[in-house]
Amino acid sequence: MAINKEKFFDLRNVCEAHGAGLVAVSKTKPASDILDLYNAGQRDFGENYVQELVEKQAVLPADIRWHFIGHLQSNKVKFIAPFVYLVHGVDSLNLLKEIHKQGIKLGRPIPCLLQVHIAREETKFGFDETELTACMAQIQADPAAFTGVRIRGLMGMASFSEDQALVRQEFKKLKKLFDKNGFSSPADFLSMGMSGDYQVALEEGATLIRIGSLLFGYRG
Ligand SMILES: *Cc1c(COP(=O)(O)O)cnc(C)c1O
Repeated sequence: MAINKEKFFDLRNVCEAHGAGLVAVSKTKPASDILDLYNAGQRDFGENYVQELVEKQAVLPADIRWHFIGHLQSNKVKFIAPFVYLVHGVDSLNLLKEIHKQGIKLGRPIPCLLQVHIAREETKFGFDETELTACMAQIQADPAAFTGVRIRGLMGMASFSEDQALVRQEFKKLKKLFDKNGFSSPADFLSMGMSGDYQVALEEGATLIRIGSLLFGYRG
């Protein structure tokens, strides 16, 4: 399966116009596809599965910035902790504590985004607004317990829906929570938007979009 270079250059321009970053989501795609996009200039890649990420990282260029965007289990944190650039899907305090533990072990605070549940589907992971507030409060109350992580922002997935107004409303909600929780540094990330809804996400303030199928084709 060939990568879509034309779409890549287009997406890169669109992101640049919005001051946003592009994460190329390469899950289930072979290392050769990743290398093709790397050679076209892409450096940020996103993966959903720990074992797949570890295998690809071992054989691909060392300056790739690997984003973990899937649902991370606590017992697997240790496999990606040494090299992961950003963990997008932190959805529990227990997971955050485990990442902290690994960060301390490695002497490197691991950058994390807290995942917020904004979609209608129940199947998607993440904190609701109340849980997010509680989690942020806990971190602020006991910063020494979280020195192995660095909370860099929020991540969310909108409903899988043709209803643009609904999707926009969900992204607006995430942006509001991002602002409300004090993420205002240029180093902070608001990770929202995929192949089907990235335009709306960028309009609503995304600073990272996660694009798979538009770049790599449909996943079988
Ligand atoms: C697979 C995936 C993407 C990319 O999805 P596309 O629709 O192929 O762009 C983005 N974010 C997450 C969390 C994913 O699991």
